[in-house]
Amino acid sequence: MNILEKTELIKNQELSASENLERFSTIINQKNKNINAFLEVHEEQAREKALEIDQRIKNGQKVGKLAGMVIGIKSNISVEDFTISAASKTLKNYLGSYDATVIQKIKKEDGIIIGMTNMDEFAAGSSTESSYYGPTHNPAAPGHIPGGSSGGSAAAIAAGMCDLAVGSDTGGSIRNPASHCGIIGFKPTYGAVSRQGLLDLAMSLDQIGPFASDSSGIALLLETMAGEDLYDCTSLKWEVPSFSSMVSENAGQSLRGVKLGVVKQFQEASDDHIVKIIENSLDKMKEMGAEVVELSFDYMDLCLATFYLITFVEFFSATRKYDGRKYGFKIEDNCGEEVLRRIFMGSYISQKEFSGKYYKKALQARSLIKKEINNLLKDVDLLIGPTVPKLPHKIGTVLEPLDMYAYDLLTVSANLSGIPACSLKAGEFKKIPVGLQLQAKPLEEEKIIKAMAAYENFNKS
Ligand code: GLN
Repeated sequence: MNILEKTELIKNQELSASENLERFSTIINQKNKNINAFLEVHEEQAREKALEIDQRIKNGQKVGKLAGMVIGIKSNISVEDFTISAASKTLKNYLGSYDATVIQKIKKEDGIIIGMTNMDEFAAGSSTESSYYGPTHNPAAPGHIPGGSSGGSAAAIAAGMCDLAVGSDTGGSIRNPASHCGIIGFKPTYGAVSRQGLLDLAMSLDQIGPFASDSSGIALLLETMAGEDLYDCTSLKWEVPSFSSMVSENAGQSLRGVKLGVVKQFQEASDDHIVKIIENSLDKMKEMGAEVVELSFDYMDLCLATFYLITFVEFFSATRKYDGRKYGFKIEDNCGEEVLRRIFMGSYISQKEFSGKYYKKALQARSLIKKEINNLLKDVDLLIGPTVPKLPHKIGTVLEPLDMYAYDLLTVSANLSGIPACSLKAGEFKKIPVGLQLQAKPLEEEKIIKAMAAYENFNKS
């Protein structure tokens, strides 16, 4: 049963929201001690909400499209009265004073928010090991990292602790953990979803997006969260399509007429066993009728340096409010090593005398990358390839910063160019999931959703 079918069962009173919630509560109580996906669970509040939904359904009153769905939220998104710690000691006592726009929308559609998920401190990382609250474990690949920075949200889905989860993606933080945990994660077009209420990592790159174990869940949560928001001036005015109806309509469809572009450099940069799995997925897509062409992306070498330079500068600026006077503690005195590194780097690069040397150059490189990625997309419907170039390491392995950054090689270009991108499971290598990344032109999320739904169905049959 997929998420869409489950919402129907609840509306038809074949499953109650309370029963759905209790099943998840039991799993959370059993598994969270070891997995550490949730930092905070609000069972009582969730129970009240589930009862209220069941009552309304019994009374024949209208309920929202997420009625009864149990949802985990990354700890950098504001939920009223929940702890918005960003997994940092700096904010460990900070309670959300309002609901982020995406949270308001989820509540309006009767989603049940069960709690806050673990993450890399301030979303700065790719492994969820830098959390002040300890690492999250990968339920799909025991002993390994779940990826990051939204590792708690991805692990919660992979461990069956909730129906849906929300994360944020600045350079891959939704797609990377989705890939390592064997589920689906979607980073929308920059501006397609409001960022109001999201703690910034790098505001010109950050996007909020959904996690689910099937494409109908992604579609439902994405269409709920997307749309223009007057409280976020970077949000786009666009007509949000009904993604969930596309999933049901495309489940049986072929990929005839769909042109897929494989970027040579993305393949070359990835480990052989990952490439093999991706090629296997490509074969299936060809069988489904897709046309596959090879493309070349000339600025691959610029991507990571450009991304990190911009992120350091924007993050440094965003952290100036954590001065210990208004709320939380002074960040420099309380954060972990990686966050401190970024504050120092950001402060250094931001000095006036260096602006032409580093930041301006990074902005120029960003324009080049954006132009080139949009050029590649001109002749194809989707770019397709691996999400992450290597497999997740074992928890506890110490990585040099640059080795950690290397996990982001294939994901940052979508953020730098603002395009939508998702990761879905392509296969496994020695029981470790490997993700397939699909990217499309700005606001063409529906092309990704349709292809994803068709591919999912092909794999089932
Ligand atoms: N891994 C990247 C970083 O450390 C991206 C993180 C993210 O997308 N939030 O900055």
